[in-house]
Amino acid sequence: MRAAVAATIGAPLKVEEVEIGAPAAGELRIDLAASGICHTDLSARDGQFPAQFPIVLGHEGTGSVTAVGEGVDDVRIGDRVVLTIDHCGHCRSCDRGRYWACANAFGMNIAGGRPDGTTAFSLDGSPIHSHWFGQSSFAATILAPRSTAIVVADDVPAEVAAPLGCGIITGAGPVLHPQTTRPMDSLAVFGLGTVGLGAVMAARIRGIDRVIGVDPVASRRELALELGATDVIDPSASDSVEEIQRITGGGADQTLETSGAAGVLDVAMAATITGGHCGVIGAPPPGTAFTTDVTMFIARNISISGVAIGDCDANQVIPELVDHWRNGDLPVERLVTTFDMDAINDAIAAAKSGRVIKPVIVF
Ligand SMILES: [Zn+2]
Ligand SMILES: [Zn+2]
Repeated sequence: MRAAVAATIGAPLKVEEVEIGAPAAGELRIDLAASGICHTDLSARDGQFPAQFPIVLGHEGTGSVTAVGEGVDDVRIGDRVVLTIDHCGHCRSCDRGRYWACANAFGMNIAGGRPDGTTAFSLDGSPIHSHWFGQSSFAATILAPRSTAIVVADDVPAEVAAPLGCGIITGAGPVLHPQTTRPMDSLAVFGLGTVGLGAVMAARIRGIDRVIGVDPVASRRELALELGATDVIDPSASDSVEEIQRITGGGADQTLETSGAAGVLDVAMAATITGGHCGVIGAPPPGTAFTTDVTMFIARNISISGVAIGDCDANQVIPELVDHWRNGDLPVERLVTTFDMDAINDAIAAAKSGRVIKPVIVF
């Protein structure tokens, strides 16, 4: 079975013939049709996000179930699934159905294997780390916990289905299913990659009046306008805060910071109207802090929250996203460029350079 292995921090991925075990209890074996490449995979490969090496990265997989482990009785062989990140199923958040806020998710998703320390893959007899974000989807076949898989209809193309489980749900989720009751007549999205454009498309679905996209790359601003943004701003050419205040009459009801770039969160908070909400999605390197003037934070009644995997239940929302795609309201294919597995390092380079918004590996 072919998998793209990250041997050490910073090394190019190498496609190898890797052995795969049988599904453990509660797992599925899935032949993948496609996998998106997400920014977090690149950060991990480059040592800016914690991961165990050697490892198979990737966490935007979609494919067909070919075997089920003991105890799995609600997914069948042949089912088409979209994979999302894993959750524990037994913490306080999971008990409440708030899987996106799972207390154990971070540790589980970066552990590089099952809770008992075993892994799905081996190469020449040595274990290769797996279960990256519940998947390790840079592989033709994977073993994934049942809890990461959402069964979907067969009509959605693999290159559209793949990014639904991380990039698209992360941007669209907080717009379609906000965990805040604060008004959302205007939305400003900082960063127009997959997550930001997912938010823009969701804003059009919701009928939000003013949808403002902020990104220094002209082609991304143009695409945002085609996908539903009412206004776009080039932050290298004009003052984003002043522009957003002008367009919205004082500031955006909601802002979403998806870029993770230094200083952009400060801009997003400043562009949020008094009484508004700022959602933080783009992750700078772990350990990065932000500061704010507490008095003004109170006086302006701003709320700020970390948005994890869309702040929504993927079991409910992924099928909704498929329906929106089928209706023509979520044209994910506009963001996607496909690559063969042998070209995975070219795909990574294209993503890093900004030439490609969402590279998807097809198997
Ligand atoms: Zn991701
Ligand atoms: Zn949990």
